[in-house]
Amino acid sequence: QSTLTSPVKDVHPDWAPGEPVPYAALCVTFSRIEMTTKRLEISAMCSAFLQHVLRLTPDDLLPTVLLMTGKLAADYSGIELGIGESLIMKAIGETTGRSLKIIKEDQQKIGDLGLVAAKSRQNQPTMFKPKPLTVRGVHDGLMKIAVVEGQGAQGRKVDGIKKLLSSADVGLAKGQTIDINQDKGGPSESKFIIRALEGKMRLGLADKTLQVALAHAMVAHAVAEDGKKVPSEPELKKGEEVFKTVYSELPAYEVIVPALLKGGIWKLRETCKLQPGVPLKPMLAKPTKSISEVLDRFEGKDFTCEYKYDGERAQIHFVSHSAGLEFATTVAPKEGKSEAGISNIFSRNSEDLSKKYPDILAKLPTWIKSDTQSFVLDCETVAWDVEKKHVLPFQQLMTRKKKDVKAEDVKVKVCVFAFDLLYLNGEAIVAKSFRERRDLLYSAFTPVEGEFAFAQYGNTHEIDEIQVLLEDSIKASCEGLMVKMLDGVESHYEPSRRSQNWLKVKKDYLAGAGDSLDLVVLGAYYGKGKRTSVYGAFQLACWNPNTQNYETVCNIGTGFSEVLLAELHETLSPLVIDRAKPFYDHSTGKNDRPDVWFEPRFVWEVKTADLTLSPRYRAASAEFGSDGTHKGVSLRFPRFIRAREDKKPDDATNSQQVAEMYRRQAEQGKEKKAGIDDD
Ligand code: ATP
Repeated sequence: QSTLTSPVKDVHPDWAPGEPVPYAALCVTFSRIEMTTKRLEISAMCSAFLQHVLRLTPDDLLPTVLLMTGKLAADYSGIELGIGESLIMKAIGETTGRSLKIIKEDQQKIGDLGLVAAKSRQNQPTMFKPKPLTVRGVHDGLMKIAVVEGQGAQGRKVDGIKKLLSSADVGLAKGQTIDINQDKGGPSESKFIIRALEGKMRLGLADKTLQVALAHAMVAHAVAEDGKKVPSEPELKKGEEVFKTVYSELPAYEVIVPALLKGGIWKLRETCKLQPGVPLKPMLAKPTKSISEVLDRFEGKDFTCEYKYDGERAQIHFVSHSAGLEFATTVAPKEGKSEAGISNIFSRNSEDLSKKYPDILAKLPTWIKSDTQSFVLDCETVAWDVEKKHVLPFQQLMTRKKKDVKAEDVKVKVCVFAFDLLYLNGEAIVAKSFRERRDLLYSAFTPVEGEFAFAQYGNTHEIDEIQVLLEDSIKASCEGLMVKMLDGVESHYEPSRRSQNWLKVKKDYLAGAGDSLDLVVLGAYYGKGKRTSVYGAFQLACWNPNTQNYETVCNIGTGFSEVLLAELHETLSPLVIDRAKPFYDHSTGKNDRPDVWFEPRFVWEVKTADLTLSPRYRAASAEFGSDGTHKGVSLRFPRFIRAREDKKPDDATNSQQVAEMYRRQAEQGKEKKAGIDDD
């Protein structure tokens, strides 16, 4: 609680009411946050800072929160940073008058470009003092850098970076030092600007923690306005719940923060609701190893088994012209405008897919019923063989162009398989049972062969019947079944959660092949023999959202054709960096390091025989890395399956999932052993 009421002078001496939030003040908080790993402390520090913003400069709350998230805008805007090292080094060099060679040497020594920038700025004599940076100014500056496109874009990005860096660190308050050896560089503005540009703040500030902090700040602000000093525990808890529910349905600070400022936290549920145009994060499923496990988990409950289609997750949003509702995304895509209304289609990452699927958006009006005025639909787009009238493998879908597709030129046709409805005719229905949502889904659409269909399903408790459904799903080119709870709270739609109430049963699991993992490519080894001119093996990692590190999990050299290796060499070579990023958690042993490191860009799906504790790899190290001999979990005999173009590095399998997989496998092992003993 003490930090909730810390005086503002501790944060920044010159920050007066109504004045723009000094960026230096935010950096002080950032540097305090990065010095601790305690989630509660981090949350309290964030909350304290946000309370100062609310009290002194509420207009700056949105850019402050966005800079804390490390993102410039909601995911659906498509605006993101992640600037490559070479551009950043160029900008640091040009701003500080140091040669690229020296910057590179520093980078080799220090390994953190943020600190390289801080050091370069510190050693630079300043002739005249530019105006100190403000939070809003930094957000605007980063935004300009992120959206530059077209000819000369690289040069203009460098100019943008230089502009920010040349004003950085002039507003350091007394006693605020940059000591790169001592304390990760302290509150240096250059350091945090560089990290924002790299797209990784590395504060250890998880999204969920920030949500809690913002909720607490709003509650504290509300009770302070009522003349009370500090909020009670139940008040804080209630605020958290309100915020989390709203954010799960409407994950866009751009919409939520203005509503918070206008109506406060207690009205947020009424003022902010799921809206067509703002994609929510989809609900995900947990893997199961057998049908009997499904029956155990759902014992005594009614559930349904749907085909698990193998395509691309999609969320389709629609508002008719006569609905009297706004389509919340400010710029609706031209592909989504029709006589019927406005629509858009989003990926599982909330990316705008309108340019990839204009054919779906063009046909949409033919499958909605006349009294369907607005909806948000959860579905899978699947490649479709028009002549044979059946589903085609996922690989076919991947051959479609990703952008600037013209509906009339589309070669690989897709059919939409709808499995859930989240919003209908002006009302969010995520908190209705799945049985009700499914009824509404069927009432709102008309299937059109090869264009729109409802996911095939069967409701049964009988193991034999489920087995038949599973086999039928495989015959129909699906991956297996999705088993879902039908009634009660457990069947509500849980945005962004990998839920126990959705189970996936894939044919591969039953064959004992285990689940696949989606991993980030961090580095590579040059090939041997025939493969010397290309990379022959790669180092892969999972993602730890708590520490915001990529944790290495295996080397992989199996599953690649010669042609693919040549292609991969071409796409990965431009991403080579001089040394591992500071957020790569890897073994430093001489033989453990790959020949080259890359910027983190690609996610690959990988199958494994099993998982094992490892003295080299770092996955799930928080849980399994501290017994002296082992550093974490790794994969045995990993095999490349496919690139997951629909996933970003931070959507990769996370450490907690790896830990869970390892634990499940260990339990299975015990069961097996017990079985043998019994015999
Ligand atoms: P996977 O590699 O299994 O697709 P994932 O991480 O993308 O993993 P999961 O939650 O594991 O997602 O599996 C659910 C995915 O299966 C959904 O994201 C969706 O794309 C797809 N899917 C296909 N048919 C259905 C269905 N009937 N209900 C829900 N999801 C379905």
